Amino acid sequence: MDYQLESILLSGVDPARPIVIAGPCSAETEEQVLSTARGISSCGVRIFRAGLWKPRTKPGGFEGVGSEGLNWLKKVKQETGMYTTIEVANREHVFSALKAGIDILWIGARTAVNPFAVQDIADALNGMDVPVLIKNPVNPDIELWIGAIERIYRAGIRRIGAVHRGFSSYDNKGYRNAPHWQVPIELRRRIPNLPILCDPSHIAGKRDLIHPLSQQAMDLKFDGLLIETHCSPDTAWSDAQQQITPDQLSQLLSALIIRDMDRPSKNLAELRSKIDGIDDQLLALLSARMQVAAEIGLYKKANNMPILQTTRYGQIIEQKSTMAKSLKLDQDFIREIMQAIHEESVRQQMKIVSE
Ligand code: PEP
Ligand code: MN
Repeated sequence: MDYQLESILLSGVDPARPIVIAGPCSAETEEQVLSTARGISSCGVRIFRAGLWKPRTKPGGFEGVGSEGLNWLKKVKQETGMYTTIEVANREHVFSALKAGIDILWIGARTAVNPFAVQDIADALNGMDVPVLIKNPVNPDIELWIGAIERIYRAGIRRIGAVHRGFSSYDNKGYRNAPHWQVPIELRRRIPNLPILCDPSHIAGKRDLIHPLSQQAMDLKFDGLLIETHCSPDTAWSDAQQQITPDQLSQLLSALIIRDMDRPSKNLAELRSKIDGIDDQLLALLSARMQVAAEIGLYKKANNMPILQTTRYGQIIEQKSTMAKSLKLDQDFIREIMQAIHEESVRQQMKIVSE
């Protein structure tokens, strides 16, 4: 599908990277919203976020202040001039937000995962002209993410952005939601003109990872950041551990190194061509390996042997992981690669045996 997207989400917001959206996880009280907004506005941030309807894992937690918070956001806008954005999860939220003059809507991760819910929102948006940000679905399924983007696009929305907020899994390696950067990178390849923001707060789940994740996102050429910020993070009614103060936000933003990656130096071009050459060799080696695997497949077929020999498989993984260590390669990374290669060899051999 050829997306004709508008590159600027909001007029008056400097299109130079990064677009920064900051604000509390949840609007709690009028005072908390306004005090946080004043602090954020003085950091030079132009877009204020707050959740009014909160999707909670279990019932009984704080589920948001609901439409009452819309008036507080109106006051934020009047007083600070910042644009405002809230999460919408159904058509009623969309209508209330638009009626209250909210400037950007965002679709949360738990909604993006559900095509019924996304379609409901898309139907409510039909014919409207408002920017919509679409967070990645909780599971790392790029087709589902693109499907949500396509539903909103088909409703006529042309100012669309994506937000990478990490993915839920059993092994999150210290993150609340593991980043799996290859997914947003693939999204950029599939829809090149789509602005992609990073939400380091929901990836991290804790304060100390927010700065390094934000820097990583900038190094990967993300277009902006969405950072949960609260006037008193420790007493926040939701996501307390991952929110930072407006002062911390200000420090983080001024410490960010924004690299200009559009003008590669000669040296970088040389290094890239070296990488291209190495990648070619990797592919040639993989092809040679698959040919040998195919020969083994023929041998197993002729001798009526099973394809998968688990001891052999275990040996390969163990040997290569020891070798990885002496080559100063990450052992988990090599294990994953060897597993993928082995799986592909088995797939090829199964084909041969069933022919
Ligand atoms: C949020 O931004 O507060 C939120 C609920 O995020 P997500 O949908 O990414 O979990
Ligand atoms: Mn949150």
